[in-house]
Amino acid sequence: AKARGGNRFELADPELDERAITRHGLTTALPAALERGEFFIEYQPLVHMGDGRVHGAEALVRWSHPQHGVLGPDQFIPLAEHTGLIVPLGRWVLQEAVRQACDWQQHRTESGPLRINVNLSPAQLQHPGLVKDTVAVLERAGLEPGALCLEVTESALIGADEGLLQPLRQLAALGVDIALDDFGTGYSNLANLRRLPVSVLKLDRSFTKGMQQAPVDPVDLKIVEGIVSLAHSLELAVTVEGVETGVQADRLRELGCDTAQGWYYARPGPPDQLHTLSLADAI
Ligand code: C2E
Ligand code: CA
Ligand code: CA
Ligand code: CA
Repeated sequence: AKARGGNRFELADPELDERAITRHGLTTALPAALERGEFFIEYQPLVHMGDGRVHGAEALVRWSHPQHGVLGPDQFIPLAEHTGLIVPLGRWVLQEAVRQACDWQQHRTESGPLRINVNLSPAQLQHPGLVKDTVAVLERAGLEPGALCLEVTESALIGADEGLLQPLRQLAALGVDIALDDFGTGYSNLANLRRLPVSVLKLDRSFTKGMQQAPVDPVDLKIVEGIVSLAHSLELAVTVEGVETGVQADRLRELGCDTAQGWYYARPGPPDQLHTLSLADAI
């Protein structure tokens, strides 16, 4: 791993790695890597657009591979999905992120609890133990369910039947927030949003790319404005991903987006980055 700008890691170039590392090699190394503790989590702050306060963080898993350095999730999550290792790996991420969130809670009382967002893959969603495991993790750590947000991609829920939605409904009923991740990339039927047990839309980065520099494309603005107003009329909060510039942040705030995440605020980093930012409380 190359350390850069303080404590954070730079992920290896995915294209280079595709050539250098065989899928097979990585796939067979996954189970032992989990046992050996080669995975770690970086946390990226989520910021309230209204007042700039840190509201929580998203847990993003990395693999510190002994030969290949730090690998990003795009390089191994699909393999873990394919082999089923994503279930124990995802459980580890949840456990570790929830433990970390409890640690943060103890240092912050005055501005309300920090929330923790954890990604759920489709295979985890289909796993019968999801609700039981999640409840057990929360109880063991002593984190209130309302501090956890599980992120499920829009594409994982397209055409989902009631059987797939049931565990999410149960978790939502317990107070866990469900976010629809990468929203807008899946061509889902907007009317369908109403029957999903979600409380947050995470607007995909592709929608906000065109807003990085002024002048901002008026059509992009109209589209985001439309999505925000639809979301709010359904009582969903809107989080925007990939905010890289002040121009983007300003426009998205004006459009009524609730929370934001992106390099403009902070890159994913080690847990103490969040601790520092949240105690400083405005970035
Ligand atoms: P995602 O859930 O959409 O996560 C956001 C991705 O955007 C992260 O990439 C993050 O580092 C990156 N990002 C954040 N801010 C910016 C920005 O301002 N500009 C740009 N260009 N990118 C930004 P990362 O960490 O490589 O993760 C990629 C994907 O891997 C995630 O996309 C998520 O789908 C998946 N993933 C990560 N951790 C987990 C996990 O624990 N479990 C599962 N199932 N999937 C995970
Ligand atoms: Ca996510
Ligand atoms: Ca996303
Ligand atoms: Ca994404």
